[in-house]
Amino acid sequence: MDSSEVVPSLVVDKLEAGYGGMQVLWGVDVSVLPGEVVVLLGANGAGKTTLLKTIMGLLPNTGGSVSFDGNRLDAMRPDQRVRMGISFMSELGVFPGLSIEENLRVTGHGLSRKTVTQRLSEIWTQFPDLFARRRELAGSLSGGQRKILGVARTQFRKPRLIVMDEPSAGLSPLFVSQLVDRLIAIHAEQRMTLLLAEQNVRFLRLAERIVVIEGGRSRFDGSVEEFEQNENVKDAFFGIERMES
Ligand code: ATP
Repeated sequence: MDSSEVVPSLVVDKLEAGYGGMQVLWGVDVSVLPGEVVVLLGANGAGKTTLLKTIMGLLPNTGGSVSFDGNRLDAMRPDQRVRMGISFMSELGVFPGLSIEENLRVTGHGLSRKTVTQRLSEIWTQFPDLFARRRELAGSLSGGQRKILGVARTQFRKPRLIVMDEPSAGLSPLFVSQLVDRLIAIHAEQRMTLLLAEQNVRFLRLAERIVVIEGGRSRFDGSVEEFEQNENVKDAFFGIERMES
């Protein structure tokens, strides 16, 4: 894709944010083109969750800006950002105390009953494994299946941008690989526009571009090949991976 001709879906420009008086993001830049999968890599505490929460409006930005499809989001509430077509999957991803079907229905809040019914039937076709267990509590699902339900929830409103926070959290390596395979299959089918924060390198298989943040600052932005060739960034990142494994 020639990025000079395509208007980005999401533009995060010199973003600053934090908690109370504690600044965490120090001018982060990220953009996502329509139909592109950007994997945001960063070690524990690098500021990934803080960045995604600020994009969603769950935290205010203290500097810089967030734009989606050319509109500034800074003053919008989280629900307004969702209605504009952004879908967010937090690390938890689902409500364990609700059934699988209820988890999907609440995602359709504000849509007409007819649309919800239609979207549910489309989701059941796309995720037959969830349909089979639709009346069971989400809390009864395995960790891997919960993440699949979380992914299904992000699909429910046919978003134009999906933002996912560390979907590998709490999953065994086998489930992580299965989740990556599933996301690759969904992307091949319908070209998601996806910004996904991770520290698990298995997600590089899904990435079309990689952004690395470190200490709340942008450290790298490039293709997977450029990432692989950048020994400084790779060593810093894989060094952390090795220490943690
Ligand atoms: P992880 O993979 O561990 O979730 P992360 O890259 O998502 O890491 P953040 O959760 O954004 O990192 O945390 C960035 C910094 O902000 C850390 O120093 C963390 O301690 C701090 N922080 C996170 N949440 C809060 C909070 N609610 N209040 C105060 N500080 C916070």
